Amino acid sequence: MKFSKSFDAPNPIPAEAISNAVSQMEHGMLYRYGHSDDDSEVSKLEAAFGQYTGHKYVVAVNSCGSAMFIALKAMDIQPGEGVFTNAFTFTAVPSSIVHANAVPLYIECNDQYVIDLPHFEQQIIKHPDARFFILSHMRGHIAELDKIKALCDKHNIRLIEDCAHGLGKRWNATDKDKDHFVGHHCEIACYSTQSHKILNSGEGGFIATNDEQLAAYCILAAGSYEGLYKKHLARPMDDSLFENIKFNVPNFSLRMNNLTAAILRPQIELIDQRIASYKEKYQLLISLLSPVEHIDIPEPVDSAENVGDSLQFNLIDLDSADITRFITHTKEKGVAIQVFGQNNNARDFRNWQYSFDDMPACEKTARLISCACDLRLPMTFTLDDIELIAAIITETMGELSAAQPMKSLTG
Ligand SMILES: *Cc1c(COP(=O)(O)O)cnc(C)c1O
Repeated sequence: MKFSKSFDAPNPIPAEAISNAVSQMEHGMLYRYGHSDDDSEVSKLEAAFGQYTGHKYVVAVNSCGSAMFIALKAMDIQPGEGVFTNAFTFTAVPSSIVHANAVPLYIECNDQYVIDLPHFEQQIIKHPDARFFILSHMRGHIAELDKIKALCDKHNIRLIEDCAHGLGKRWNATDKDKDHFVGHHCEIACYSTQSHKILNSGEGGFIATNDEQLAAYCILAAGSYEGLYKKHLARPMDDSLFENIKFNVPNFSLRMNNLTAAILRPQIELIDQRIASYKEKYQLLISLLSPVEHIDIPEPVDSAENVGDSLQFNLIDLDSADITRFITHTKEKGVAIQVFGQNNNARDFRNWQYSFDDMPACEKTARLISCACDLRLPMTFTLDDIELIAAIITETMGELSAAQPMKSLTG
């Protein structure tokens, strides 16, 4: 048996997006502000994106990393300031903080792959002057949002959500009065459309907010000069918000172009369908792997939706040689699993040396990522692919246990 797709397979570009992109190229004006009318592809995309997420104002940019950088600048971050963020996330997050001339303050991750609240509270006490928190919904794992927001409010910490993996994910999904998307506990939410995310344009990102002043800053900083902000559909309509600050805001040239937007716009209406497709496979795989020895799949926190475009699980009661054997043997059988704490992984905080002088004391996170596995589940996989993954993992684990039958008894 073989897998129908590679584990790296991106979400498909729909036919409508392809023809949309071709007509943009035939026209030739790919710069978002190059058209005489206001309805450039980028502008229309921003409006459609905000309509989906429920944010009033949206700015399209060239990446989520750029979005987080601009978000910090919009909140007037000063050189050398500390910014709380996850010790378990992707390197683009601390990099955006370093880009803003600031210093990441890492918060430990718990066994559910999310911010460890007791550690966050300790760090707030340790860094009473810290004013910002970029909360990363790493791999779509949603932390205790209500509690984090309450702590931030109490200590005057401004919250930015990294929704690179949070698009379309619900909070309080089972309570129809409180149900909403993640990205609404913060002042600014940041999104990615890099090829491994739910919307695929290779590169791209969004800034989304309901705050008109922050929106005006972000629009100008992304690269809108003179009176070009007027060409935005998803902007605050009060021109004075822009006129009052425009000569004080740098143009960082981080805009999205019309070609990227043309590829993305027809994908917006596919988000829910894509999530449903992920969910079916994700939940099937969880049900198949849950009984397997040495595999622990943490439950999501209450209120968070259980779906992902990849599955994370922990290898428990195995030493590092066993873990390496497991990864090697599954790989030989065609299943690509990575351990976050191995092999130059960009999600291992110990590799973010650009961001600290002394190694952060995040022992809990270090322990977790030494046994935490990452398995991509492309949307284009079939249910047969999922069953094959489960069969290979189960078989490999069985072989490992058979080779060392005493370990789990004595360990
Ligand atoms: C992909 C990703 C990013 C970065 O997105 P880019 O658009 O590549 O800058 C940030 N955070 C997380 C959790 C990601 O997975």
